[in-house]
Amino acid sequence: MRPAWCRNRFSHMFTTFFLTALALSLLVRAWLAGRQMRHVAANRASVPQRFVEVMPLAAHQKAADYTIARTRLGMLESIVEAALLVCLTLMGGIEAIDRLVQGALAGSAMPDLVREVVLVVAVLLVSALVDLPFSLYREFVLEARFGFSVMTWRLYLIDTLKVVALAIVLGLPLLLVVLWLMQASGRWWWLYAWTVWSGFSLVLLLIAPTIIAPLFNKFVPLEDEALRGRVESLLARCGFAAKGVFVMDGSTRSTHGNAYFTGFGAAKRIVFFDTLIERLNPEEIEAVLAHELGHFRHHHVIQRIVVSLLTSFAGLAVLGWLIGQPWFFEQLGVEPSLATRDAVALLLFFFVMPIMTFLLAPLFSQASRRHEYQADAFAAEQTGAGELSRALVKLYEDNAATLTPDPLHSAFYDSHPPAALRIARLDQRALVAR
Ligand SMILES: [Zn+2]
Repeated sequence: MRPAWCRNRFSHMFTTFFLTALALSLLVRAWLAGRQMRHVAANRASVPQRFVEVMPLAAHQKAADYTIARTRLGMLESIVEAALLVCLTLMGGIEAIDRLVQGALAGSAMPDLVREVVLVVAVLLVSALVDLPFSLYREFVLEARFGFSVMTWRLYLIDTLKVVALAIVLGLPLLLVVLWLMQASGRWWWLYAWTVWSGFSLVLLLIAPTIIAPLFNKFVPLEDEALRGRVESLLARCGFAAKGVFVMDGSTRSTHGNAYFTGFGAAKRIVFFDTLIERLNPEEIEAVLAHELGHFRHHHVIQRIVVSLLTSFAGLAVLGWLIGQPWFFEQLGVEPSLATRDAVALLLFFFVMPIMTFLLAPLFSQASRRHEYQADAFAAEQTGAGELSRALVKLYEDNAATLTPDPLHSAFYDSHPPAALRIARLDQRALVAR
């Protein structure tokens, strides 16, 4: 049977638009990846002037090799994902999976809603299976080759089972409710779905630090005699509950170090990886803590939540309109008269939408980098710019993060400012403060 999009005799305009956007996003990705690899390779021979005294050449070169290996793998993954997308849509993949599912369920008295859930789960499973080799290669080959991963097969399997269990407990009920709303609540279904989705994400944010993250890692309150006094006075100055600072056993999976701020309201937490705590001296830990407190004081988490709620509102409104357009289905390779039409619409939307919005990525990266600068400035005021920049250099070294990214690649993707610019601002503040 010919796929749906070529059965339509009238117009292939949306098919053309979709394929053009897909090709364009791949070309931009390839162009940026090429630039990044060339730029990093060209700067591999020597450590940039500012870092000569603090970054060993071997570490700089390791970071270059690691960056290039990751960029190359990421590019290959993008190509495979694009191929999967075309297979699922224009080549009739979703329709074929739907036929399989309906065939398997034929004769059983299952309600349509359950058939739709099974279809969505089946398609997501196919997509996860395609992604699996990349996940395995990244963890057990790439991260291991550079000495980062200490992951065992046993732990990987346990993690995967936990993720699947969470998807069943949290994801399935949400999917059922949304599909039910699509079926039962008329043309404004997307507004109800958005309300449900918003409530769901807020609850998720509340339980993520206290209930979900502890399923994977151990969190203990930061208790360091050498630190306690300074940390407590810093927290008091910033109005942050002293019970909210934790150390996480990140070392069970990898030697990467990090710190982050998560949650809101009573559930908010600042988390240090144990690997980071081991590497930093008390002044540097205080500076990193002050940076995370900067995110808290500038309400960055709340701002991110608002932006994500607005984006999902816009997205669902668009889906609410698209679902009434037969061409949306036909021209993406699906027969619009399918009984599982709602589930198919959700699938098409979530697979195709990221391609259409890919070129907006730099806007979000830019906003995130602005937040990082604000948090750095806050830390410099509270503790000291020199301590923070010393801590950052150790972080770059331990994570083999390149000091010399391509400026355009960085502007497009990076959530954090490039090392040189970030440290330069801190150096300036340190000079002014002196
Ligand atoms: Zn930050």
